Amino acid sequence: MNIRETNWNIAKNKSFDIAIIGGGISGAAIYKALCRQGYNVFLIDKGDFSCGTSQASSMMIWGGLLYMRKFDFVSVCNFSRDRDALIRSFSDQITSKDFRYILNGHGGRNRYLIYLALQLYWMLGKCKRERPAFQEKFEERNIINEKNDAESIIYQEGFLRQSDSRFVLDWILDHQTENSLAINYCSIQNANFNKKDKRWSLDIKDHFSGDQCTVKANMLLNCAGVWADRVNEQFGIQSPYKHVYSKGVFIGYARPDKHHAPLIFEMGKNGDALAFIPWGPVSLWGPTETMETSIEDGHSITPEDIQFLLKHASRNLDPSLAKSNIISLRCGLRPLAVKKTFNADCYPLDISRHHKIVDNADVPWISIYGGKISGCISLAEKVTRKINDKIPPRLKEIPCTDNRTEKAAWTSFPGLQGNIPAIDWCVRHEFCCTLEDYLRRRTNISQWIPRGGLGFHDENGEYLKKISSHLPESSVKNHDSHLHEYRGNVRERFDQIIEQIQ
Ligand SMILES: Cc1cc2nc3c(=O)[nH]c(=O)nc-3n(C[C@H](O)[C@H](O)[C@H](O)COP(=O)(O)OP(=O)(O)OC[C@H]3O[C@@H](n4cnc5c(N)ncnc54)[C@H](O)[C@@H]3O)c2cc1C
Repeated sequence: MNIRETNWNIAKNKSFDIAIIGGGISGAAIYKALCRQGYNVFLIDKGDFSCGTSQASSMMIWGGLLYMRKFDFVSVCNFSRDRDALIRSFSDQITSKDFRYILNGHGGRNRYLIYLALQLYWMLGKCKRERPAFQEKFEERNIINEKNDAESIIYQEGFLRQSDSRFVLDWILDHQTENSLAINYCSIQNANFNKKDKRWSLDIKDHFSGDQCTVKANMLLNCAGVWADRVNEQFGIQSPYKHVYSKGVFIGYARPDKHHAPLIFEMGKNGDALAFIPWGPVSLWGPTETMETSIEDGHSITPEDIQFLLKHASRNLDPSLAKSNIISLRCGLRPLAVKKTFNADCYPLDISRHHKIVDNADVPWISIYGGKISGCISLAEKVTRKINDKIPPRLKEIPCTDNRTEKAAWTSFPGLQGNIPAIDWCVRHEFCCTLEDYLRRRTNISQWIPRGGLGFHDENGEYLKKISSHLPESSVKNHDSHLHEYRGNVRERFDQIIEQIQ
């Protein structure tokens, strides 16, 4: 039996202290914090863990540089404290990294102003990272368009070592016991609060088998990211906040030899910037910032998104990027928390990226709005404190309870250096159900190898077919359907978009 089947059997008719809806970074961080205090927690995701915005970030653990624009120094202090706490506590998952702010002598911000701002940023972060400094000679100089100055300012932030999805997944996997457990590809059909025994009764449905069961919980947490409003609406929960959505798209290219540090380029408009981020064998260029009105539109990349990025790449990078070299695309919707009455037409960067925690007055239900990977620890602490007041914690602190007793099995992938976890092991221990789970979130193959891992000329098709045989048959009609379905996704989310670019 794999971990997903085991958890389903345990969860059936079980009673938990808290149920969390949504296994992105917010849900995972709160899940981890609550498990460590001995609460019995149930985490459920309608898709795979981290299949929402948390798989599409820039992977930066930043100290709130963005807030320097608005002289919001309190936010900078708070974000910097969170960044440093994350780097300190999770050094195996997060590393401190040099970033380069590229100075643009042609209409960009004044170089000394940027230097002073970065010095202040560093000081507001209690001088914990390396001090920012001008650097004229650096290896990335030969991949920068000469229209930019020859100079950069180097400063430090945190950066996820493997990926955003892996970070989220590991936090969930760290706590899987008889008392606290997670399950993906399941959704809550009904949630009824019984005022007599003061508990929620949740009807859960498995998306693959169609099986149903009932789970009880004293409290519900809505951590569904951009879907949080829909979840609240489904269960009749009111909130003074709502989400607006900002789409962010990256394109992935083969990483130039001398690309070591993320490069930050001013866009020259709206005070925004674009980054060129080295990540394994690729470099990511982006992200865009566009306001979207619907979740569905926000998750689809348009040829205009790519054209915008290519235009800015030709201004800033040398050689400029071409559509034929695009290895991967990456798209996510930022959940931005605003008052329910918000109706302004503004650039998304002008909307706060702070989270809001809404405690419902009528029933035990907490909704999370907004949030970032960088601020996930303070979000989890605040939510935990709220819960402590209502349900006393069982323990002061319990360690991780990673029950993966079988030693990890490693394998390789054509065209990729180094080892990756084997698919059958991910099925048994890491809730891996589909090819996309494996290629996108258990490994980085779909972002590092062209066309979702299939290869520019489909050269890995047979290999993917072979490894698909390890996936649970219950999640599709038969093994061949895994590859068929995956190919369809690559066609829709990559090939068709690239074909439309002029
Ligand atoms: C381009 C881009 C770059 C970014 N870069 C950074 C960065 O460098 N650093 C940083 O800190 N932040 C960054 N962010 C922001 C950050 O990625 C997001 O704010 C964060 O990932 C949101 O996490 P979440 O858990 O709230 O939402 P999500 O990750 O979207 O998780 C929500 C989960 O809820 C599940 N769900 C939805 N509805 C239901 C339901 N009915 N039942 C069960 N489950 C449900 C979904 O399947 C999903 O897994 C970036 C965002 C974008 C788009």
